Amino acid sequence: MTPRTPTRQVTLGDERVGIVRIGGGKPDAQGNATDPAPIVVQTMTAGYTHEIDACVAEINRMAAGGADVVRVAVPERKDTEALKAIIEQVRVPIVADVHFHFKRAIEAVEAGVHKIRLNPGNISDRGQVNAVIDACKDRGLPIRVGVNEGSIIERKDKQKRLRELGRVFCDHKHGSLLAIMIAKLEEYLDIFYERDFFDIVISAKSMDATAVIDAYTEIARRFDHPLHLGVTHAGPKETGAIRSIVALGTLLANGIGDTIRISYANDPIYEVEDGLELLYSLGLRERKGAELIACPTCGRIQVDLFTLVQDVRRILGERIEVPMKVAVMGCVVNGPGEAEGADVAVFAGDRKGIIYVQGQRVANVPEDQILDRLLAECLAFQERVRDGSAALGQKTVAIIPPDPIGELGSGVERIAAGQVEKVHSVTVGRT
Ligand code: SF4
Repeated sequence: MTPRTPTRQVTLGDERVGIVRIGGGKPDAQGNATDPAPIVVQTMTAGYTHEIDACVAEINRMAAGGADVVRVAVPERKDTEALKAIIEQVRVPIVADVHFHFKRAIEAVEAGVHKIRLNPGNISDRGQVNAVIDACKDRGLPIRVGVNEGSIIERKDKQKRLRELGRVFCDHKHGSLLAIMIAKLEEYLDIFYERDFFDIVISAKSMDATAVIDAYTEIARRFDHPLHLGVTHAGPKETGAIRSIVALGTLLANGIGDTIRISYANDPIYEVEDGLELLYSLGLRERKGAELIACPTCGRIQVDLFTLVQDVRRILGERIEVPMKVAVMGCVVNGPGEAEGADVAVFAGDRKGIIYVQGQRVANVPEDQILDRLLAECLAFQERVRDGSAALGQKTVAIIPPDPIGELGSGVERIAAGQVEKVHSVTVGRT
């Protein structure tokens, strides 16, 4: 992991909805040092903003799921008119996503929104941009400048611009795109600098993961504003997850990025869940809730592990708040080794499950009781962590796997007694 690239820092929100810092590491406008803020997870509502009740419900669901910031689209006047009532009912900073109509940005600012997103590709008139900058400056609001690939390339002279600007990065696979993004950013940010406005976040999304990596890497070298990472139009979750995680994970591991939005053609709660998991996996955010470890299953499996894992995941998400490790393993053959380090673990086999808490075997239950007993042990362990009688990550007793076919299977004793005709060789412990 490369250390975070220092940036300026922007702040959004207020005491009521919470104050969120983005970026940091460089001194602020007064020369005071800023600490890099934790990387912020954003998402965007999928419904209409003017449908106030539904929009509030969606925002609150995203916030409960862990979103630090939620963005809403405001294509029409009726959307900005809804903002005031929405903001009063939520507890998370709201960003207004503005395209084409600069007045939507002004209206959103007046409605109390906490940040504005502008697109240089469709709001480029200097007077209009100045009006938005002045409105935000008056209220201390930051602005994200998003130079997304799909909207910055001006179609009427696209080929000419590609030829002219592509020469700057002529040896580069994404030379033309990078050249346009950099040129557009420099040109656009000059308008902000001329008005002494520096509370800026930059994004440069593309639908191509490698272009995203190249674009943000180049921008991080040239600008010191915090970066909002994302792959645009990543597609359905099933494939979009790979495209997004490979791009954002690479950049974050290289120390680039201050806030992320994973975007899927799906319920935005998945964007929040996967964004958080990405940050947890890279050690860039302190985990909230349980970390679930599960085996992929193989020919040794003897319970419906896929269903069990999904049920465990859902229930842990609802009930467990301390960052305990929970392992769900399909058998006792390799499960103990694979679950090493788990606070609570179950090893299944022959329609039963053996449950361990920090290496201590605590139960042996039939398959239909595994879920309830595992949850009970997790809740009890959570209470012990909270009252200080247990500590996360401490095993009191090493997990010694039981005889895999003796305890959970057909039984060595029965085999020895000639009650089983054929025995497959099994290895106990790690392989
Ligand atoms: S824990 Fe057992 S069932 Fe799961 S993958 Fe490992 S060996 Fe196979």
